[in-house]
Amino acid sequence: MKLPLRGGCQCGAIRFEITKQPLTLYCCHCTACQQQSSSAFGMSMLVERDGFRFLKGAPTAFEIETKSKASKMGLFCDACGTRIAHDSKGKPALSLKAGTLDDRAMLRPVGHIWIRSAQDWITFRDEDLIYEDAPDDGYFALMERWAAQEHA
Ligand SMILES: [Zn+2]
Ligand SMILES: [Zn+2]
Repeated sequence: MKLPLRGGCQCGAIRFEITKQPLTLYCCHCTACQQQSSSAFGMSMLVERDGFRFLKGAPTAFEIETKSKASKMGLFCDACGTRIAHDSKGKPALSLKAGTLDDRAMLRPVGHIWIRSAQDWITFRDEDLIYEDAPDDGYFALMERWAAQEHA
């Protein structure tokens, strides 16, 4: 992808940029993503923390309850409520809510996770990586597929 990638919240109070190639892009159909996005699924782009910075404004953080008790923060604009990213302690990458990017036309997810709770009208492509719940390989296959797609 052509860097930097830029994006922001709905009201414009928060702007950010990505200066390193994203690691992968996938859709998550878990019930938490459905509720958080107020939609059918969430679209997550894994971005290395040192390749991400805020250009304008600062997000508000709240702690998301997780089953594993690992600390996970939801970063959002406190003026318009747009969720920007999820930041899990100890992980090298942020999970950016990809719909906040300015250019969404180029977003091609390589896989779908938590399809166990996916809406039943959604169809998946044969070539997509499909997971019943969370990937158990540390997202390796999703990252590998993304890299292959980017270099195709
Ligand atoms: Zn905003
Ligand atoms: Zn999810």
